[in-house]
Amino acid sequence: MNEWTATPDEIREGKTTDVYFLRAIQCLDNDGFDKTRVWAEATTGGIPREGKRLVFLGLNDVLNLFLEAKLPIDVYAIKEGTILPFKDYYGVKIPFLTVDGVYREFAKYETPMLGLLCFQSGVGTSALRLRIAAQEKTLLSFGIRRMPPAIAPTIDRACYVAGFDGISCVLSAEKLGIPATGTIPHSLIMIEGGIQPTVVSFDTNIDSSVPRIALADTFNDERVEVLDALEAIGEKLEGVRLDTPGSRKGNMREIIQEIKWELKLRDREDIKIFLSGGLTETSILEFRDIVDGFGIGTYVANSPTIDFAFDIVNIEGEDIAKRGKFAGRKQVGYCKKCDIYLCEQFEQEHILCPSCNNEMEKMLKKFIENGQIITKLPTEKDIQKYIQNQRNVVEEI
Ligand SMILES: [Zn+2]
Repeated sequence: MNEWTATPDEIREGKTTDVYFLRAIQCLDNDGFDKTRVWAEATTGGIPREGKRLVFLGLNDVLNLFLEAKLPIDVYAIKEGTILPFKDYYGVKIPFLTVDGVYREFAKYETPMLGLLCFQSGVGTSALRLRIAAQEKTLLSFGIRRMPPAIAPTIDRACYVAGFDGISCVLSAEKLGIPATGTIPHSLIMIEGGIQPTVVSFDTNIDSSVPRIALADTFNDERVEVLDALEAIGEKLEGVRLDTPGSRKGNMREIIQEIKWELKLRDREDIKIFLSGGLTETSILEFRDIVDGFGIGTYVANSPTIDFAFDIVNIEGEDIAKRGKFAGRKQVGYCKKCDIYLCEQFEQEHILCPSCNNEMEKMLKKFIENGQIITKLPTEKDIQKYIQNQRNVVEEI
């Protein structure tokens, strides 16, 4: 169907690598470096949108790729879903994932590995920022139409674990074991002949467990269409969605206030108001006090990636680093009490917090030993819960 999407087999075989790795392997093999063991780490030089912290996602996929590619390596990584800065207390770049093994064996997997981490951490990070901005208001992921269909579940997974309340994709919902969320497309209203026949049809044909939420902006003023929908199905109307086009937005806040006033006059303040269409973090901050939820599309699906890089920091026991990187095998300590991260030499048995002097938790856990996954990987529910728990400590990212 889509000859320009790599198949899982092609990815496992390393065919989505950059060609320079294949050439490098050829040189190494011919020059007697085919057994050279290195320690390499993934770090990043910054967080997009002036972020302070990122959400580390994509690890499960990377570990499964390494496993399926049968790479004879050891892998340590920060747990999937950890919310953390990219530098430690003293400004050392934090390693998020490290690989210990013969370089030529895993070299070509740098490209797909980074692709998995960069994209998913990027979406997860902006999804969490949106979650924080929306406070307790409903957040729905509507952005899969902005990206190739093959990655729709990847986008929705990142939104879901970061705390979105719902996702619209049928396949993503199936994989996550949650109901898919959605309202009414404009096309239905256009074919049915307006808002009233549409909400009546929806109410007649769609299972009663699905909320009756009317899309109220197709042909007329939002206030008029909301009242039309209310007139058509009365008490069954649970909410309205305003997807007002840019050319008609005017003062959106006043439009919403008018709708709320009309609903109040009719004793229907219970009807929820959802916004969609070109929303950003700024729009959430602007409207969160007067609406009940947001459908976010492009802004989250097209999140800037976290630009992880992968660099050698030790060759055959000797510390080494290219310019701009920090040499040596590292462990990452974390003090929950002080919310401080600290990079230390990997071999050091105890890492002490520079602020309270207590022993820090070692954040790089061993996930793969000689090609085998040795830890049970978390489910999406586990990751969602893990992110939620960290939010008790981390209020903004
Ligand atoms: Zn401390």
